[in-house]
Amino acid sequence: MTFSRPVRSLFLFAFCLSTFGTIVNAQVKAGRDPNQPVDQEYTNKIREYTTEPFFNSPLTDYLPASSDVPTPKAVLGDIAGAPGKLPYAEEVYKYMRMLERASPRVKVYSIGTTEEGREMIAVAIGSEQLMSKLEENRARLTKLADPRTINLDEAEADRLVAASFPIYYITGTIHSPETGSPTALMELAYRLVVDNSPYVKAIRDNMVTLITPVVEVDGRNRMVDVYNWHLAHPNQNWPSLIYWGHYVAHDNNRDAIGLSLKLTRNVMNTYLAWKPQVLHDLHESVPYLYDNTIGDGPYNAWVDPILTDEWQMIGWHNVSEMTKFGMPGVFAHGNFDTWSPGYLMFIAATHNGISRLYETFGNAGADTVERSLSPSEYQRTWYRQNPPLPKARWSQRNNNNYQQTALLTTLHHFSTNGKLFLKNFYLKSKRSIEKPKNEGPAAYVFPADEVRAGNQAELLRTLQAQGVEISKSTAPFTVAVKRKSGSGSARPTPSPSPAVSPTPVPKTEDRTFPAGSYILRMDQPYSRIADALLDYQYWAPNDPQTDIYDDTAWTMGELANVEVVRVTDVKVLQAPMERVTGDVRSPGGISSAGSVYVINHNADNALATLRYRLKDVEMNAAEEPFEAAGRKFNRGSFIIHKVDGEALRRATSELGIQVYAVASAPTVKTHPVRAARIAIMHTWLSTQDEGWYRIGFDHLQVPFTYISTQDVSRDPNLKSKYDVILFAPVGRGSQAIINGLPMYGNPLPWKKTDLTPNLGSIDETDDMRPGLGWNGLQNLQKFVRDGGVFITVDDTTDFAVNYGFTQGVTLNRSQRLRAVGVILRTKAVDSTSPIAYGYGDSLAMYCSNGPIYGVNNGVGGRPRTQSRATGRGTPDDPDVVQGRPPAEIPEPPPRVEPWEAPPVGDEQRRNAIGLIPPNQRPRVILRYADNRELFVSGLLDGGDEIAQRPAIIDVPQGNGHVLLFSTNPFWRGQTKGSYFLVFNAILNWDNLNAGRKLAEK
Ligand SMILES: [Zn+2]
Repeated sequence: MTFSRPVRSLFLFAFCLSTFGTIVNAQVKAGRDPNQPVDQEYTNKIREYTTEPFFNSPLTDYLPASSDVPTPKAVLGDIAGAPGKLPYAEEVYKYMRMLERASPRVKVYSIGTTEEGREMIAVAIGSEQLMSKLEENRARLTKLADPRTINLDEAEADRLVAASFPIYYITGTIHSPETGSPTALMELAYRLVVDNSPYVKAIRDNMVTLITPVVEVDGRNRMVDVYNWHLAHPNQNWPSLIYWGHYVAHDNNRDAIGLSLKLTRNVMNTYLAWKPQVLHDLHESVPYLYDNTIGDGPYNAWVDPILTDEWQMIGWHNVSEMTKFGMPGVFAHGNFDTWSPGYLMFIAATHNGISRLYETFGNAGADTVERSLSPSEYQRTWYRQNPPLPKARWSQRNNNNYQQTALLTTLHHFSTNGKLFLKNFYLKSKRSIEKPKNEGPAAYVFPADEVRAGNQAELLRTLQAQGVEISKSTAPFTVAVKRKSGSGSARPTPSPSPAVSPTPVPKTEDRTFPAGSYILRMDQPYSRIADALLDYQYWAPNDPQTDIYDDTAWTMGELANVEVVRVTDVKVLQAPMERVTGDVRSPGGISSAGSVYVINHNADNALATLRYRLKDVEMNAAEEPFEAAGRKFNRGSFIIHKVDGEALRRATSELGIQVYAVASAPTVKTHPVRAARIAIMHTWLSTQDEGWYRIGFDHLQVPFTYISTQDVSRDPNLKSKYDVILFAPVGRGSQAIINGLPMYGNPLPWKKTDLTPNLGSIDETDDMRPGLGWNGLQNLQKFVRDGGVFITVDDTTDFAVNYGFTQGVTLNRSQRLRAVGVILRTKAVDSTSPIAYGYGDSLAMYCSNGPIYGVNNGVGGRPRTQSRATGRGTPDDPDVVQGRPPAEIPEPPPRVEPWEAPPVGDEQRRNAIGLIPPNQRPRVILRYADNRELFVSGLLDGGDEIAQRPAIIDVPQGNGHVLLFSTNPFWRGQTKGSYFLVFNAILNWDNLNAGRKLAEK
């Protein structure tokens, strides 16, 4: 290895001390090597496109010339950041591969494909020497990443650190309207290869930079289409980017928990394979450069303090260097709260690396425009002493200057301190392994007798994809676990007699887990991510952070509706077990013999897949629990009389579903479960949240037709095509659903054309503006009256209630409640409803300040008050009318629970115009739990406002049904335990009244 001289001497100094423990600030000056010629034409263009000299730095105000390495101009036809130029992902790749051909300092790796089949790449850049040693370096980093391999030997770790070079992984444009990073990263790659200035050479000689220039490839190409349409239609409004990736938009950066998207999996796999020390994601939404690495509190509670220290060191250094360059608007801290582990860059934080993120200032395209900021953006605060300007002409080139300058200063800092960060990487990995004997827990156990074995296996597979090792016990084992509340949490007796010492109540109790239980040992390198995802979250209602950035809870066992036991007893590590190789699968297939097949309904999602895979097979659902083959079967269990046994065996083996063959059908009332024809309806306003429904359905191979509100407005006979229409949250309000976008200006097309080849593949329209309209509303209401099922969630339940789909339901939005991306407990109210099949008495569900419902037996019911009127006496006293004998006061009406409708009174029946017939009244399926049981995980404040209120209501309407969900059953691939509430409604769409007991009056 050769180092530039100042760097080498610093290295030797650090190595001799063998501490690698102090930050070194390099004395190498930033700026060009006077002996290296510049590409004058390119350099002139940089100056031309930069709107003010102070929006550039000595690192990027020139481009070094090269006789054999092409500049980005070779592909772009102009320089990086030029106005009017946004390259497609393929053009960016073409350039990176030109670099690879031109220089031994570059290698391009294909890291997978997107949902729509487009390639993702990673580009590695380093000196020839480093590039020739990538594999041996990887072997060393793999040992540092798993200190078990060197028996946690410090001396060996130091030898490995001394011999290794770090990897710094940069990812660009995950958010498609944030358009600058691909060109910034093209030019950065060129500089890292070509620039001979000591500052840049130190980077190339001491570390490898790994770059994924486009993370959201499908969205990037759509964004370039929209931008090109805009260029071709000057003076017109252009369509907003309604689809980014195939499924989700902005939320693609909230997938590092559930790992539903291919882009997350591809970056995760690259991270796990390369063992980089940093994952640094580039965004553009804040002027001019917000290094949010340090962020604000509360910090995620599971990351290593060594990491939070690194955040401070690196973040402030970055700000400090750029401040010295005189670039305005560079700052750290800000309002990013660093709590959720769902962000892409957090993959590093939870896997012993360093997570980093920049927000720079982009124009959502490559136009140069005057930008006006709001006071909150340009005012000086303690962490932003040199704020952005209130008004400035801003160009894509400015943005590229900021991105590259920031990255070069941080890469240089990292290359100068590589040994420190490598040693920290080792220490964090080691401390992850030492978790059981330090902070704990020792393990998480997934019991073998889990009733939802399929959902359990699915959750374990997600953890495997996170790089977590899973073991399986080969014999029963007994360990101490936390005592269940109720058995040991009795209040201490007040004033014990001084003579008697109180008997301490043990905090733990022994529990024996059966053989075959899964054990996630915490003495493994990636214990931290398992702990972060499986543990409970608590966000204090009085936390000083009131500007909450994202969800406050994600406890995965609760959201999967499977049992996960946190075990601190280190004895668990001695349990007989073996490592699971390959994906965890639940057992499936047919046991015993007989001509009738029975499948227990346990709300395992694979059951929905099975129904559609064998869509022509007649299946029936039991309306009551029953026993057969010596086993208990839940309400809703499938009974199959006629089927090709081999086809059933094959499907259920693959899907991990246990089938029991019996000689004769159990005597129980049944109804058919049919493969309903499903439509998922979207608006042209936003497709962000409905994308999580589509991806859930697609992964489970439950087919649906994708329709828009515009399709519905044109179709008066929806029932002839669909049995169920699902309308996921929109986030834009009921009126906007009807009205669509304002009809001012020009039409906004979203379709595939020669100019926009990447639009329209998911859905298309000539004009995005029209909404559902009144025709569409009538068509939807007719669909329900004709027997269809209309499923609404969160804000689309506002739409259903406000536009007359749901007689007898009132809806309010909370005044005091703060349930910010939280997990709340719900309770079964009517378990005989098919919607509740397979579920128990209690279910934890994701809620984000959901609507607060009330139910009535009459139309236009108002919220009731039961408090006494003003008068004499105490709150419990009767009033006394003066000057006459007291009238006899009737018995108070029986208590009505908050999830119930008040009984029909005499006055309501006298002329019963508004009285809803019993079979058309709202039926509450689940309610929120009582206030003391409501909270499961996250932030809950003012919970009494929603406690005990209906959570899921089935409202009969004509021949059909409207479903209202106050909780969100499909959220970010994390809520797989509540998916089946929706599948139940779908599979039992024509029998939703099953089990219903009607009121007499
Ligand atoms: Zn972003």
